[in-house]
Amino acid sequence: MTIAVSQDLSPTLVLNADFRPLSYYPLSLWSWQDAIKAVFLDRVTILAEYDRAVRSPTFSMRLPSVVCLKTYVKPARHPAFTRFNVFLRDRFQCQYCGSPHELTFDHVIPRSKGGLTTWENVVAACSPCNLKKGGLMPKAAGMIPHQTPYQPSVHDLHNNGRLFPPNFLHESWLDYLYWDSELDPE
Ligand SMILES: [Zn+2]
Repeated sequence: MTIAVSQDLSPTLVLNADFRPLSYYPLSLWSWQDAIKAVFLDRVTILAEYDRAVRSPTFSMRLPSVVCLKTYVKPARHPAFTRFNVFLRDRFQCQYCGSPHELTFDHVIPRSKGGLTTWENVVAACSPCNLKKGGLMPKAAGMIPHQTPYQPSVHDLHNNGRLFPPNFLHESWLDYLYWDSELDPE
């Protein structure tokens, strides 16, 4: 799974004041227009540039490829409970068979048995597995999720997001996206 990013748009990677991306998935990117606006508003520092420049009769500037915010933005401690974030926690894989196709959601304890729609009871599941499990309890169906569902931290989702890089990664971004994973191989 990739996010389509067009190189022609010369997107700018946006880092927090601690030099980490604001988010990994989707990767925090701005259009070069927004990046230049932020430079003039003195909100960001340019860390790397594209060769490409914008020019007017009175002005010339290379497009920023990496900027960092001057003011640290405190990340939320707990990510929102959304469909997307459940998929991201479960790495876009059915928690019963591992398939990445036809993903939907399954209540581990069925709603008909009092199961709630919460981080702890909802997992990514493909349509065939979802149908097969139906309204049965996990043991009765013989279907136990690979990973016990849990409320992820922002850090958990960032780590999973890194597994799904966008299709375009400018070379100047790589230091900021992957240096810590090289220092701390898992
Ligand atoms: Zn499945």
